[in-house]
Amino acid sequence: MSLLSTQNLTAHYGDFQALFGVDIELGEAETIAIIGANGAGKTTLMRSIAGVLRNEPKAVLYDGIPIGTQPADEIMSQGVAMVPEGRKIFPSLSVEENLLIGTYGRKIKGHWTLDTVYELFPILGERRNTPGTALSGGQQQMVAIGRALMSNPRVLLCDEISLGLAPVVIKDIYQAIPQIKTAGASLIVVEQDIAQAMAVADRVYCMMEGRITLTGTPDSLSRDDIHDAYFGAG
Ligand code: ATP
Repeated sequence: MSLLSTQNLTAHYGDFQALFGVDIELGEAETIAIIGANGAGKTTLMRSIAGVLRNEPKAVLYDGIPIGTQPADEIMSQGVAMVPEGRKIFPSLSVEENLLIGTYGRKIKGHWTLDTVYELFPILGERRNTPGTALSGGQQQMVAIGRALMSNPRVLLCDEISLGLAPVVIKDIYQAIPQIKTAGASLIVVEQDIAQAMAVADRVYCMMEGRITLTGTPDSLSRDDIHDAYFGAG
């Protein structure tokens, strides 16, 4: 049985339908990547899983339990945490205060504490008293990831964590992913950077116009398949 799945998931913004019957599965200790162009529906899928957008109860199953109508704070306290697109850290709060916000409503004990987050991202330990505004983009992204980890999630949703960052910084951030997995979380990584997604994921889903257009292991997918699934054939 998968740890988390969506079944025939749809999403609307008013009259506009953004997702059309999306089915994905995430296993224990698995990393899946969701790739797709701007507007494909990747963020909408993350927001639907996290309970920011509500669904039919069985459209999202977590540990066998329908959570499609549960509110976001309830879903988070059960172990599904999101690193949102655009980081959304609190600029006037320090690194440490931002991280501690992640413990709010925490019900799950586990690996992640301030100390283990500082081991994962040593620069955050050095800058623990620095306000969010004084951090680089990469450091802000580390805070956003650390804050989500502080809830000790079983599922971590990462929405475009490489966006707007320099390649060397992206490498620093992505090298944390295997350690997060080893510590016991499964991950869903939304990425526009296909190579990055392929490097980190056990399986990849490609989305286009609100639908899954391709699924497979990185090894099994050809460049042409991905191109067609990403941009449409022909
Ligand atoms: P990006 O890489 O740009 O974040 P995405 O794949 O994450 O793209 P979504 O942000 O999920 O795509 O958007 C899917 C579709 O839903 C797009 O057509 C977008 O314009 C639309 N959309 C997203 N948010 C809203 C909103 N709040 N109101 C109306 N339409 C929206």
